[in-house]
Amino acid sequence: IRFTDLGLAPELLRAIADQGYSEPTPIQAQAIPVVLAGRDLMGGAQTGTGKTAAFTLPLLQRILPFASPSPSPARHPVRVLMLAPTRELAIQVHESVQTYSRHVPIRSCCVYGGVDIKAQIAEIRCGVEVLVATPGRLLDLVEQKCLHFNSVQALVLDEADRMLDMGFIPDVTRIINMLPQQRQSLLFSATFSEEIKKLADKMLKSPELIEV
Ligand code: AMP
Repeated sequence: IRFTDLGLAPELLRAIADQGYSEPTPIQAQAIPVVLAGRDLMGGAQTGTGKTAAFTLPLLQRILPFASPSPSPARHPVRVLMLAPTRELAIQVHESVQTYSRHVPIRSCCVYGGVDIKAQIAEIRCGVEVLVATPGRLLDLVEQKCLHFNSVQALVLDEADRMLDMGFIPDVTRIINMLPQQRQSLLFSATFSEEIKKLADKMLKSPELIEV
């Protein structure tokens, strides 16, 4: 199977070609068509499997019809929310989002704790379609009222098992409860404990299960 068989937009295929990737990894080959179809997904995949591109590429394509070159912040509401357990992981995910969105007019930013919140508020106020965040800082930003979730179409929970280990599930649950009911949700985890399954039950609707 080749990237060109997966139904991805030419601008995204160009970004993939820029990276020099010749073929999709197993999680990419399986997940991309499912996510493009708008389905929910429970992905069992470790780091190093190419899971970041597996969710980023199809979600970028899902919001491509709404992409606008307009500078007005109102034209760039948050449409995709990606949650990661640590600052390092959030930065990595955001780097992938930037890599794959280089040929499309989609803006993204990354927010995490431990740094001054003001610059993050300013960046969000300019408008971003894809927001990569750690849960605690995202809640801080919500409290600052610089963010609303009315236009969120998709949620990604990356490394859910680590979120659980780090005690973030209450924060994640609070965030999920603020999102529109009608949305696409993807959960990735290296392991599926009972607690992860409980979270998946709460968060996902008839998910496709993909394990690599
Ligand atoms: P991840 O599992 O998302 O952390 O990705 C692991 C690494 O694989 C990253 O450095 C990616 O740049 C790289 N990668 C992702 N997809 C592919 C692909 N289809 N072919 C080769 N390398 C890839």
